[in-house]
Formats: sequence, structure tokens, C-alpha cells
Amino acid sequence: MSCGRMEPALHFAIAFALAALMWRRLSSALLAGALTLLPDLDLLLGSHRSASHSLLLALLPLAISLAIRRPSAKHPLQVLSLALAVHVLLEFATGFAPVLWPLSTEEYSLSLDFGFKGGSLALAFDVLRRPYDCDAHGELNAPVLTLEGLAVALLLVVLALQVIRAGRAVARSPGGRELWSAKRAREGI
Ligand SMILES: [Zn+2]
Repeated sequence: MSCGRMEPALHFAIAFALAALMWRRLSSALLAGALTLLPDLDLLLGSHRSASHSLLLALLPLAISLAIRRPSAKHPLQVLSLALAVHVLLEFATGFAPVLWPLSTEEYSLSLDFGFKGGSLALAFDVLRRPYDCDAHGELNAPVLTLEGLAVALLLVVLALQVIRAGRAVARSPGGRELWSAKRAREGI
């Protein structure tokens, strides 16, 4: 099983695109793109896919945002949760990560297998688990940047910018201004 590391540009672009779809705002998309790189700061401590890659920790800001009342504090917390969850789920799908830490110190990986069998598309998935292996993640074992990764990331960012532009056009349309300001007031953005 490969412990491949997803490229930072792809992490950025996928979080950017999802935030653009959710909030239709450039600032939210940029914030999500930047924050999604946070879990990899564990590399500075000589380990990758450490506890910073826990899905439970990623969802903590969302839980706090639901518990607090101040609308202006809710939005950044929700962007942070999305950004962290995107990072963790992408790495869970491409290798092992301790997604259930601190409930479980084991690390898990999603194994996807799909292809054409007997003339129809067959999809099988499994969740693999193993004890946390610090040594397996001690160094980068995949290129930080590839041409293919950069191309896909650029495509995603361009598509997301179109989504944001379309959102702005709706906000400027007759009736859209009231709807948009009501949504902003509700979500604290
Ligand atoms: Zn990572």
C-alpha cells in the first residue's frame, strides 16, 4: 500500500473549489485554500500524517461554531473545519492517516477499487487499518509538485472563480441584493 502524499497545490485547489461552491466568496475560498495546508506543519516536527490529520480535530471548529452565538465568529471556524476535513479526507483516500485520533491511535486508509467487470462498472471500497507507524511518514515520499497536479489544480481554481463570479452576478441582480445580504447576515460573512 502506497503512503503517497498529496501535492499541496491539489490540497489548496480542492479546498478553494469547495469553499467557493459553499460560500461564493473569494476571501472564503482563499482562506480555505491556505488553512487546508495547516495539518502538514507536522512535517516541521519530522513526521507527516500525525494527530494533525484527525477528522475529529478537523470537525472541532465546526462544533464550536454551532455552539457560539456571534455570527462573525462562526464563518471563519466553519471555513477552518472545511479546510482541515478536506486535507484529512484526501490523505485518508490516498494513504494512511490517524483520522480517529484521539479515539483511536490506529491509522486508516480508504481502499477504492473500480473498473469494468462483466460489462458493467464495479466499485468496491474497504477501510484498511494498522497501528500508527511514525517511521512510514517521516519524510516526503512523493513529489511536492508535478505538472499534472499543477494543471488539475489550476483548472479547479479557474472553475471555482467562475462559480464565485456567477454568485456575484446573482447578488447584483434585482432581488438578489436582499437575498444576498440576508444570507450574509445569517452566516456572519
Ligand atoms: Zn498531510
